[in-house]
Amino acid sequence: MAGSLAQESIAVLESSVGYRYGAVLLVDDEGRLVPFAMSDQGRGAEFVDADKAYVASRGIRLGEGITGWVAQHGTPVRVGDVRLDPRYVAIRHEIRSELCVPIRAGERILGVINVETPAPDAYSEEDRVVLEIVAAQIALALEMRRLAGLDALTSAANRRAFDEALPRELRRGARGGYPVSLLIADVDHFKAYNDALGHVAGDDCLRRVVEALSRGVGRAGEMLARIGGEEFAVILPHADAGSAIATAERLRDNLARAALPHPRSATAPCVTISVGVATAPSGRHTARDLVLIADEALYRAKRLGRNRVMAQAS
Ligand code: GH3
Ligand code: MG
Ligand code: MG
Repeated sequence: MAGSLAQESIAVLESSVGYRYGAVLLVDDEGRLVPFAMSDQGRGAEFVDADKAYVASRGIRLGEGITGWVAQHGTPVRVGDVRLDPRYVAIRHEIRSELCVPIRAGERILGVINVETPAPDAYSEEDRVVLEIVAAQIALALEMRRLAGLDALTSAANRRAFDEALPRELRRGARGGYPVSLLIADVDHFKAYNDALGHVAGDDCLRRVVEALSRGVGRAGEMLARIGGEEFAVILPHADAGSAIATAERLRDNLARAALPHPRSATAPCVTISVGVATAPSGRHTARDLVLIADEALYRAKRLGRNRVMAQAS
């Protein structure tokens, strides 16, 4: 929905504000500005894809060029002649006027809307206001999309986001010929925790578990998701079995360090997790297979006494 809103907005801006090139660029998690929607210049969707790929290949970084500057500082820029602006980096040489506004959600800068055209002094303050109104709409759609993928209790990714991410990461792994691993972690004796301390304390405990686990997750493409009541999954692209097991041990250790007292665990005085690890050596597993393998390993970790990591039998 956010994508089609952005694409339609770019089309509307062409007939209202006017431009030679118009684009919505979003900041990715590596600090690059990536095209999200672009004008088709009357040449259809294939042209948009090619032009997106071209701009993406230029790899605009935060702080680079006028768009990068706006994405870094969060304030609009309106330039009558880009040749006189030291921030300008020429991707298209015929351009003179540029107008760029941030797309922001509170303090977070999600991206920018940028329009540029060969005529000098083409844009007015009113044009800037129009772009800012459109930017607010796109920001709202992007925020809704983000929130739809988050678990309301813990703010970890939710099951829906996980179900989308795992097949995607496996496809990427298969294409790139690298391994993808999956951890499934389940809180030990959590029913007893609720029984002893109540459901509200149980909810609080789950938030703290996520805090502890998320300290060990966060490299590009990695995802921590809450996939069940007291069950979490971690997707680890590029992790072979050995490094996935090491990460799982680190997560278990992070939780041990958080030292959340568990008055009725038969395993330890603190809240612990059991973890099952599964690895697709070159991404060549279905998501379903990988989940089944990790689940089976988790089951063995539980049976062997909990508070431990087990990997798939190889
Ligand atoms: P095991 O070590 O075998 O995993 O035992 P367990 O008690 O953790 O497993 P079981 O599946 O028997 O119980 C899971 C409990 O998690 C039961 C349920 O009440 C609790 N739970 C699930 N979701 C939530 C939640 O959102 N909040 C709270 N407070 N408790 C939850
Ligand atoms: Mg469970
Ligand atoms: Mg449990």
